[in-house]
Amino acid sequence: MSLKELPSESKSNSTIFSFESLGLSEKLVQAVHEQGYTIPTPIQIQAIPIVLEGGDLLAGAQTGTGKTAGFTLPMLQLLAKLPRARSAQGGIAVRALVLTPTRELAAQVEESVRLYGKYMGLSSMVIFGGVGMSPQISRLKKGVDILVATPGRLLDLVGQGVLDLRHVEIFVLDEADRMLDMGFIHDIKKVLAILPKRKQSLLFSATFSDEIKTLAGRLLNSPKIVEVARPNRTAETISQIVHPVARSKKRNLLIHLIKSEKWQQVLVFMRTKHGANKLVEHLLDAKISAMAIHGNKSQTARTKALEEFKTGTLTVLCATDIAARGIDIDQLPYVVNYELPNVPEDYVHRIGRTGRAGSQGQAVSLVCLDEDMFLRNIEKLIKTKIPKEVIKGFEPDPNETPEPIIMGRMTMNGGARKPKPASAAARKPSPNRNRR
Ligand code: AMP
Repeated sequence: MSLKELPSESKSNSTIFSFESLGLSEKLVQAVHEQGYTIPTPIQIQAIPIVLEGGDLLAGAQTGTGKTAGFTLPMLQLLAKLPRARSAQGGIAVRALVLTPTRELAAQVEESVRLYGKYMGLSSMVIFGGVGMSPQISRLKKGVDILVATPGRLLDLVGQGVLDLRHVEIFVLDEADRMLDMGFIHDIKKVLAILPKRKQSLLFSATFSDEIKTLAGRLLNSPKIVEVARPNRTAETISQIVHPVARSKKRNLLIHLIKSEKWQQVLVFMRTKHGANKLVEHLLDAKISAMAIHGNKSQTARTKALEEFKTGTLTVLCATDIAARGIDIDQLPYVVNYELPNVPEDYVHRIGRTGRAGSQGQAVSLVCLDEDMFLRNIEKLIKTKIPKEVIKGFEPDPNETPEPIIMGRMTMNGGARKPKPASAAARKPSPNRNRR
């Protein structure tokens, strides 16, 4: 199993539960067992019975908790009992729709639908942008029972009159908080306007912000609310280290670590797509095989990068937080925070990709002066001081002063002191300001 962490209170609960005891049919239980899962996770224990009863659900759970099976299994069971309908195009009408923020997550959810539903006789399909539309259109004409989609392409296809969503009976909004972060609110509203009023709706989100509550109020009808613990503690199987480094030496430090430690499979996190592309160029120059995975890459490029990384052909995969979400790679030995995330929870997500399934993993953060505040916020969240080690030859520069971090149109101050504006700081480095 590749679960990152289960809250201990619920862990003991799980021992008295089985998938059968949650009310799932034999065919579903068999498919789940074939995946090697015999004990349901806390979110599955709580969510499955509620969904089977037909009620709406607001679930607080994030990737790694087993949430996908939490909605997929009961959804399959309900659909198998409900009669099929014909769509406006004459094929099988879509009766279940799952919306996800990213293409990778959509693909993974649909794969789960297929795996868990292998004995159920239901059809499923995934649609997302960045790939040709014609194959999706021809498949939609025949129709499917379950559709997993990202919002943009879904609306495109509805707009073209090739997708009929009037028969949707179950609607799942997965990782709703990420959807809002990524600016999908208008698309979500458009989808909601198209869907039938009478339906069962399930909303999964890692956080319950005010925005999520507003969305839930709009979408859900007397929902039951369940929540499993947020992984704000980092798994014990992950060893963490911070290497304080001069801003200009980060790149070479990474190359040094990969070469001297003979790292074979490293997931490197960046804050921006541009940064990821640049780093890949430098790694390639240093004869280290590397690819970037982010929203500007075509689907084919992303799939290729992921495949090569999983099979071990590719040493380094450089990812942004959004692109990396939903990627399920087991037992990754190394995760590098080339740049610390400004959202401390993202640090927990990032390093959760290593040390899975009981194997030891290493989370290495290269931290320069500009990111001091980010580091302190992370340590506050995980309630741990991460050990620091300066690598000889890559020491922080005593003359460095903090600079603002520029992300697209946003400028952030991650340094402990008020930084100079980027241009001024670049022109006039002030002497002797060693803060480490
Ligand atoms: P998710 O939170 O849905 O992304 O699931 C995280 C990982 O847990 C996936 O690799 C699942 O295949 C796995 N998983 C789901 N349910 C179980 C279970 N009951 N026991 C063990 N692993 C599970």
